[in-house]
Amino acid sequence: MVIHGHQPGTALWPGTQQVTNGQTVLLHPSSSRWYASAQLDAATCVPEEGTGAYDLLDRYHVEPLKQERIDRAYFKMDATERDARIWDLRRQLGDRLTILGHHYQRDEVIQFADFQGDSFKLSQLAAGQSSEFTLFCGVHFMAESADILGSPNQQVILPNLEAGCSMADMAKPEDVELAWQTLANLGIDGIIPITYMNSAASLKAFCGRNGGIVCTSSNAPRVYDWAFSRGERIFFFPDEHLGRNTAVRKDIPQDRMVVWDPFLPLGGNTEEELRSAQVYLWKGYCSVHARFSVEQIEKARAEYPDVNVIVHPECRVEVVQAADNDGSTEHIINVIRDAPDGTTWAVGTEINLVRRLQAQMPEKTIFCLDPIICPCSTMYRIHPAYMLWALEHLVEGRVVNEITVDPATREEAKIALERMLAVP
Ligand code: SF4
Repeated sequence: MVIHGHQPGTALWPGTQQVTNGQTVLLHPSSSRWYASAQLDAATCVPEEGTGAYDLLDRYHVEPLKQERIDRAYFKMDATERDARIWDLRRQLGDRLTILGHHYQRDEVIQFADFQGDSFKLSQLAAGQSSEFTLFCGVHFMAESADILGSPNQQVILPNLEAGCSMADMAKPEDVELAWQTLANLGIDGIIPITYMNSAASLKAFCGRNGGIVCTSSNAPRVYDWAFSRGERIFFFPDEHLGRNTAVRKDIPQDRMVVWDPFLPLGGNTEEELRSAQVYLWKGYCSVHARFSVEQIEKARAEYPDVNVIVHPECRVEVVQAADNDGSTEHIINVIRDAPDGTTWAVGTEINLVRRLQAQMPEKTIFCLDPIICPCSTMYRIHPAYMLWALEHLVEGRVVNEITVDPATREEAKIALERMLAVP
C-alpha cells in the first residue's frame, strides 16, 4: 500500500497505533478491524482516480479558478500558533463574521465553524445571517448560493478559490442549453429542468428562466413531485445518480430514463428513446460517491452480519438498492445518531464526516464502506492556512476571495432557489 503524505505518529483516529512492516496501522477501538494509517490521513489521496472523472473534466477543458499564491510561511506555521491566531482574528471580527463549515471539511477547519451542515442547511443558514462577512468553508457553488440568498450587503468569502466541485464542473451551461434546444427542436415539450444544488449559479439561472427549480439530496423526491405537478418530464443535471435514485423512488421505470451524454449526438440516444423518456439524466457524477460499490457492501455484511449500510443518493443506483438506507448527509447523521448503542454502521459517504461520526459516537461501530478512504479532494483545498490568510486581510479591511454572482444570473438563480425553499 502506498502511504501518501502520512506523518508517522500523527494518528487521527482514536485507536491504538502500531507499526507493522514499516507501515503505521491503527486498531479500531471497538472492533478487531485494522486500518492502515494511509487510509485515514489521505491528504494527497485522489478520489477521482479510477472513476474516470479526470478524463471527463479534461474533455470539458475545466479550468478551476486560480487561487492567489499565499506565503509558504502560512503552511509551515505550527498548528497551535496558527489556530490561536485564527481564534484571535475571529474574536476581533465578532458579530461581523459568520463561519460556515460543510460536514465534509476536516476537523482542523470545522472547529472554527459557527454552523455546520450539508449544502441545503448551509444555504438556509446563509440566507438568515445578518453578519457583514460569511467565510464559507465549502466549495465554490455553495459560496455562490450563499451570495445569491444572502442580503446585498453581505460579502461571501471562499478561503481557497480552487475549492470547486468536480461534479458541478461536469455540466457546462452551453451544453445544457444545447441539449434543451435539441429536445425542443424535436417537439418534446412538458419538460421541467431541475438542477442539483451542486451546480454553477448559471445552471440555477437556467432553471429559473425555464420554469425549473433547484433540489438537494434532502428534498429531491419532493422537488420531483413539484415538477410532475407542472410537467410530464424532468431534465435533471448534473448528477445522473441522484436523478436516477430519486426517479426510482418515485416508481419511474428505468426504461423511461435516458442518460444525456453531451459529447454525443442526441446525447447518445435515438429520437424514439428521447420521445418516450420521462426523465433525462445528465451524465455527471460525484467522484467521491462513485467509488462505493455493491462488493464493498457485500464485504461489510460478511464481516459484520448485523451491519446497517447507509449511503448517500449520489452513489450508483445498484449501491443504493443494496444498502439498508440512503439519504442526504443530514439524514445519515440523524439516523446514526438516533440508533441504539452497540449498533454497527457501514457508511457510504465522505470520510471526514464518517470519521467525525465515529469520534462522536464511540459506543457505536461506524466505518466507511470504501477500504481506500479518500476525502473529497476539492473540499480538502480549504486549509486553515487559507482561513488565516483571508481573516488577516479582513481585519485589515481588505476582502479577499469574495464570491459574487452577477446581478442578472443572481436574479434568475434566486427564482429557482426560492422555488425550492418554498417546496413543502
Ligand atoms: S463530495 Fe462530490 S459532490 Fe460534494 S463537493 Fe466533493 S466532488 Fe462535489
